Amino acid sequence: MKEFKEAGLSTEIMEAISEMGFVKPTPIQEKTISHLLTSRKDLIGLAQTGTGKTAAFGLPIIQQIDPKIQKTQALILCPTRELCMQITKDFNQFSKYLPKIKITAIYGGASIENQIRALDRGVHIVVGTPGRVLDMIYKKKLMIEKISWLVLDEADEMLNMGFKEDLDEILSAIKSDRQTLLFSATMPKEIAKISEKYMNDPDEITAGQKNIGAENVLHHYYLVNAKDRYSALKRLADVNPDIYGIVFCRTREETQNIADKLIGDGYNADALHGNLSQYQRDQVMNRFRTQHLQLLVATDVAARGLDVSDLTHIINYNLPDDLDIYLHRSGRTGRAGKSGISISIVHTKEKNQLRIIENRSKIRFEQKKVPDGISICEKQIFNLVDRVVNIDVNKTQIERFLPYIYDKLSDLTRDGLIQHFISVEFNRFLEYYKDAPDLNLSLAPRKSERDRNQSRPTRSENFSRFFINIGSRDSMDKPNMIKLIASHIRNRNIEIGKVDLMKNFSFFEIESSYEKETLKAFELAEFKGRPLNVELSNNESMEMPPRKKSKKNR
Ligand code: AMP
Repeated sequence: MKEFKEAGLSTEIMEAISEMGFVKPTPIQEKTISHLLTSRKDLIGLAQTGTGKTAAFGLPIIQQIDPKIQKTQALILCPTRELCMQITKDFNQFSKYLPKIKITAIYGGASIENQIRALDRGVHIVVGTPGRVLDMIYKKKLMIEKISWLVLDEADEMLNMGFKEDLDEILSAIKSDRQTLLFSATMPKEIAKISEKYMNDPDEITAGQKNIGAENVLHHYYLVNAKDRYSALKRLADVNPDIYGIVFCRTREETQNIADKLIGDGYNADALHGNLSQYQRDQVMNRFRTQHLQLLVATDVAARGLDVSDLTHIINYNLPDDLDIYLHRSGRTGRAGKSGISISIVHTKEKNQLRIIENRSKIRFEQKKVPDGISICEKQIFNLVDRVVNIDVNKTQIERFLPYIYDKLSDLTRDGLIQHFISVEFNRFLEYYKDAPDLNLSLAPRKSERDRNQSRPTRSENFSRFFINIGSRDSMDKPNMIKLIASHIRNRNIEIGKVDLMKNFSFFEIESSYEKETLKAFELAEFKGRPLNVELSNNESMEMPPRKKSKKNR
């Protein structure tokens, strides 16, 4: 099926989707639409958001709904309120010329009474989050005996969000001759278990390769010190003046913090995370969707319900621990045939994680250099000049101000005038990047250099050197020592530098700005029942600091 009309879709549906600008089916639509129109077999679809899967299952289901039966015939389960609303909106558009088909969304965090009233009026298709759907089944407001299609959309996200038990109950409650469809971007073991338990010999289709990020997404990474992450982020935003992207952070606090800093520094940014009220989240998402915001700083969970198809970039402020999360994030750009860039800001400790993601996904990451001040200024100035050239001049609106403006500017020559106008916008960049340092981490020293350094240890720039009272005699090697240090510090943003392992004791480096935090982390620490002694070492030799002897036997 290369065209929609070959799939057997009705003229009403064809007309609606043609108004939506759908010309050709996407790969998942090619496979799913004809399957659903010709078979009652269950179906598992491996597909990410952005592949057109809503229409893939929505169009054939809508076509087969019998509006004369005033009962719910299709139930679509999805992880978030935003996704519920998005799917419902899409379904309403698909069924624009089938006005007898009634669709409603039911989700948590909103008045249950209104949703009950909608169900009482009789709806053919219900789109809901698992918790609220189960509630409505218990309350006997959602009647399930006539359900012929049950769709689990973004099944992996529903499990990630803790809906496993609710799903089990819903799947057990609905009669077994339904056709069950499961869509997921990834196939963790738990999904396979659900399919084994609740699906009947399902066919499996894949939109593109499994677990591979969108083809038109480039994967770039920038290697910097952990403390330079924010400066690198700003430079990346500055060198892409038309950026429209999501910056993914690990925690709500970090998300708010980075957004606050960006706003304070004059960027068109805002935060999206779970500490905001639903109203605040809706506001931020609307501003972002309508491109009134250029940068959205978000946690993975909060960004889930956001359906935006023309992002130019996504930025991993931290590299995620999990490949699936990386794929979800990067899959948010490069949609609907457009290209996109997935950027990761990586510090040395995260390099291994990057390699793991690279090996498991076959994604090719390309290392890029954080731009220097000159190239950013160049990019900004050209962008400004382009904007000046291309701006629509509304002569009638500005006409009455012009005499005053001409008079005020009459002493400036043409060149002077240009220079003044450019400086108004541009001086802040020139000032900020005047003495901008190189943020790129230099490549690892060659072996001969390393050997030389071994005999004359020096403290790396921006790092402090610590003494610790365990060494190789305690069955320690360098990787284990790094693990031990990391397990006490418990802050992945803190970079661990060089480790020098001696027989009875060792030295390690930590970024200087985290000296106090490091000492505190080891205050009551023990190793194999022995107190751990960690102290700042001012001396750069490989000898145990004299003070340590007295503390060793505390
Ligand atoms: P989805 O993966 O269902 O969230 O769809 C992603 C975006 O692609 C939505 O904005 C859809 O409206 C759009 N879309 C879906 N199918 C097509 C198609 N065949 N042609 C053009 N756009 C589509």
